[in-house]
Amino acid sequence: MQLYNNLSAKERAELIEQAGKERLTISFYKYAKIGNPKLLRNHLFIKWNELDVLGRIYVANEGINAQLSVPADNFEAFKNHLDSIVFLENVRLNIAIEHDNYAFLKLKVKVRKKIVADGLDDDTFDVTDKGTHVNAERFNDLIDDPNTVLVDMRNHYESEIGHFKNAITPDVDTFRESLDLIEEDLRAHKEDKNLVMYCTGGIRCEKASAYYKHKGFKNVFQLEGGIINYVRQIEAEGLENKFIGKNFVFDQRRSERISDDVIAQCHQCGEPADMHTNCANEACHLLFIQCDSCKEKMNNCCSTSCMEIIELPYEEQKALRRGQGNSNDIFKKGRADHLPFKKDLRNIFETLKK
Ligand SMILES: [Zn+2]
Ligand SMILES: [Zn+2]
Repeated sequence: MQLYNNLSAKERAELIEQAGKERLTISFYKYAKIGNPKLLRNHLFIKWNELDVLGRIYVANEGINAQLSVPADNFEAFKNHLDSIVFLENVRLNIAIEHDNYAFLKLKVKVRKKIVADGLDDDTFDVTDKGTHVNAERFNDLIDDPNTVLVDMRNHYESEIGHFKNAITPDVDTFRESLDLIEEDLRAHKEDKNLVMYCTGGIRCEKASAYYKHKGFKNVFQLEGGIINYVRQIEAEGLENKFIGKNFVFDQRRSERISDDVIAQCHQCGEPADMHTNCANEACHLLFIQCDSCKEKMNNCCSTSCMEIIELPYEEQKALRRGQGNSNDIFKKGRADHLPFKKDLRNIFETLKK
């Protein structure tokens, strides 16, 4: 039985192009007790591989978290299959606003300890005692309430290109850091303020809201289905859109535009820009925001030294990379010191002083 990808990303991209068929970008998650994640993993791989589903899926004893690309023609079969799995029957699917046939080029179903790397010790609080889930309409009302504190539960590189108006966007690299920071800031208001939170698809708020309730917050709310589902609802129901800029996503698309506002700036020249890119030097791979003219001028690189490296013959580049190890922490490096206009304001001011 074939339980792993047998096509390279390039071969897969060619097949998708030849097929010329529309694919849907979908995500969903579900916390549920799963006795044997390995078994579920294999079952999903076999079935989804059959349906030409691609994506990145994490399965754990605590549930499943899936980001997928599904051929539109197979959507019904895919949905029927989900409904045949007891704990996934009628699970809420977050369907992307902008589709990209190449959003994912492999099917990777991985068994993990947790479905979100949140850094929380789940045994120390009741994870099932969650905040109140609210829909887009209620969410809009809540964030208009002067007694509300609205918190973006995502990382700095995500909120940098788009967020809800008036949201607190913690300047952190990890989810765990933001939890403490927010608790510290709101220590005096645990009982009188509404703590309203949101993230991309809702999953990060599930445990965060339970954690805050455990920490003594009385009025904890979370946006059901996250930004993705919010946008769907405001469009369907003609509600006011309170999200500005772009929604950062974790696939090839990088982001989807929600409003026309460009709220970030090019990390190299400071001009308005909100397009993330990875440095073309494979050994660097830094994720940063680059405008079109810097892209051209810098040859898709983050620095002149990276530009010099990509000019070298491939074998020489490979030799340089040897022993360095490929960094998967590409997002953490988003604030590399050599970028003058990265989000961290302290650094911008320091650069200006020079
Ligand atoms: Zn620029
Ligand atoms: Zn670079």
